[in-house]
Amino acid sequence: MTDFAATKALFQMPDGVIYLDGNSLGPLPKAAPARMDAAMRDEWGELLITGWNKAGWMAQPAKLGDRIARLIGAEAGHVVLGDTLSIKVYQALASALEMVPDRRVILSDSGNFPSDLYMAEGLIKTLGKGHELRVVAPEEVEANITDEVAVLMITEVDYRTGRLHDMARLTRKAQEAGAITVWDLAHTAGATAVDVSGAGADFAVGCTYKYLNGGPGAPAFIYVAPRHADAARPALSGWLGHEAPFAFETSYRAGPGIERMRVGTPPVLAMAALETALDIWDMTTMDAVRARSIQLTELFIDRVEAACPMLELASPRDPAMRGSQVSFRFADGYAAIQALIARGVIGDFRAPDIMRFGFTPLYLDHADVEAAAAIIAEVMQKRLWDAPEYKTRARVT
Ligand SMILES: *Cc1c(COP(=O)(O)O)cnc(C)c1O
Repeated sequence: MTDFAATKALFQMPDGVIYLDGNSLGPLPKAAPARMDAAMRDEWGELLITGWNKAGWMAQPAKLGDRIARLIGAEAGHVVLGDTLSIKVYQALASALEMVPDRRVILSDSGNFPSDLYMAEGLIKTLGKGHELRVVAPEEVEANITDEVAVLMITEVDYRTGRLHDMARLTRKAQEAGAITVWDLAHTAGATAVDVSGAGADFAVGCTYKYLNGGPGAPAFIYVAPRHADAARPALSGWLGHEAPFAFETSYRAGPGIERMRVGTPPVLAMAALETALDIWDMTTMDAVRARSIQLTELFIDRVEAACPMLELASPRDPAMRGSQVSFRFADGYAAIQALIARGVIGDFRAPDIMRFGFTPLYLDHADVEAAAAIIAEVMQKRLWDAPEYKTRARVT
């Protein structure tokens, strides 16, 4: 049993805020500032360069990777941190494509996050081998897994609607067809009870600043299945993925297992903050989080639909088919979200008309959901969003 009141107490939340945007950026663990302060003053300040050994900076990407492995059902020793998610997508995709040299199609879906598609386009140009990025509707992915497909590159939870792909099923289909799978867990890690090992995923990547609460700019992670770990060739062959970085050889030799997916110097300070978030994750299991997430999303949908007939549910109604977010379509969604933020309910807007709300059991409870739904009801029923100050779009929506 997880004590969710205890986990909630470990996050800083501004007064009057109900935070339904942990799917974009998790809140601050209260322990993070002191840990960052220690990382700066005691480690960087006092240890200087010796911090790499004495404070264990160099081992941190794999150590924290192991703690994330538990949350995504990965084998220990097969997840490593570093870089940003876009970079990790590129890296996984490049390695995966090399494993299927006789095929040219990367299959993805239109619910994927644009950066994943953009990285694939860039990689295709760089390779110059005539690869094709084939983007189909999410519900048509399975039917498009043919023997042309080299790599199935899918984000498990749709960032707009929260629709959840069946990882085990699609992975099996892809592998039966001779393809390699790359799963993006950006909206999965810390949100749903995923099992990358059980599903047989070949590669998985994700970020740590969304549901995992690692802080803005926290590093991404990459998983390579144990059966590929010593065979996958890293396209980004940086020195810290080398077999012997401090031998300073003139030519690259890939390091052992997941270590080869490291590129360059890890973000030590960002990892210090992430560590405090992972301390909180150690207090629970993904099964407990998932069960409570479903309670919260069901309650939210129930309350909002009852009070707001003008909002159309964009997320799957069946909780087994959605991640830990709920989205509604509304033509003036941008203004509505701004009006909600002005009243302390922080969600976000995704073009063209999606109002998106993330549910995060570590720091949100049933009372928060009831209170948020009541504010949404008031804003929608009284058209409080219909004011000029809510209609000017900011750079980040
Ligand atoms: C959030 C997100 C990203 C963002 O990538 P960064 O490199 O961390 O900015 C990429 N892909 C998906 C699926 C995402 O949800």
